[in-house]
Amino acid sequence: MVVAVRYEGLAFTFFYMSTPINLKSYRQKAYRDKKKISAFLTKITKKADKSIYPLVRQAEKYAWTKVDCTQCGNCCKTMTPTWKKAEVKKLATHLGMTYQEFFDKWLYVEESTGDICNQSTPCQFLDGQSGLCSVYEYRPHDCAKFPHLHRKDFFDQTELYAANLHRCPATYEAMKHLYDLATAVKSK
Ligand code: SF4
Ligand code: SF4
Repeated sequence: MVVAVRYEGLAFTFFYMSTPINLKSYRQKAYRDKKKISAFLTKITKKADKSIYPLVRQAEKYAWTKVDCTQCGNCCKTMTPTWKKAEVKKLATHLGMTYQEFFDKWLYVEESTGDICNQSTPCQFLDGQSGLCSVYEYRPHDCAKFPHLHRKDFFDQTELYAANLHRCPATYEAMKHLYDLATAVKSK
């Protein structure tokens, strides 16, 4: 799957303890709103007007008041990060493996993009008991920055946000809130 993105998730571990996320309910909301949010993202991307950035920041902050990644972990369960070779080398060394051993055991190169991805989901490093990343200090940059809400190249990411609405509650909350904020501003 090359919606290859990942996990800022655990970086928000220490915010607060919240109730488990109802992924089914999030998925339903995402499918309900997908059409209008996707159309909105396409429209602002075409326009590429950076004056929307303060609203993007606001929407991102809002999302993290609603979602605690430690209660979710859906990205680690259902998607693959994109690995850089240096990241593979570093973690392989940490685990006492060669690059090739690590690669053959867990990774493959996605043909259409050339991205290095996990062979399967959930991620091999997701601790089944705690639901947390067992190699947190060595996780790929892609994991550390997922769901990539705070990006300078926001307009290059909007397709990804639309694709992840039903997979990532934080993405859904941020994009839905952005939609609501932008709609409210427009109607003033
Ligand atoms: S899917 Fe989204 S909300 Fe869930 S853990 Fe990953 S980044 Fe956090
Ligand atoms: S390396 Fe860690 S953070 Fe990244 S997908 Fe695997 S379990 Fe999740």
